[in-house]
Amino acid sequence: MNRQFFYERECVHRDKGAEGEAYNGMFFVQALQRLQSTDALRIAGKVSPFYWVDAPRVLVWLCRECAAELHLETPRVVLQSARR
Ligand SMILES: [Zn+2]
Repeated sequence: MNRQFFYERECVHRDKGAEGEAYNGMFFVQALQRLQSTDALRIAGKVSPFYWVDAPRVLVWLCRECAAELHLETPRVVLQSARR
């Protein structure tokens, strides 16, 4: 497994103590691309921005709700969050 992650991003709900998981940035980007652009923009607005070219080195922490909106609730998770 590639563990060379350089960046970590998170959705705005992490501060509120929501439960969630860290996802590979590639999955996050791919999930965004599957959505309607208005939905994608809305969800992308909840996550600290990063350049998509960096996605393979980005971990994106998403709460359950944001993950569900992105249809990332299925076990395509690459890494378990160490901070559950
Ligand atoms: Zn969230």
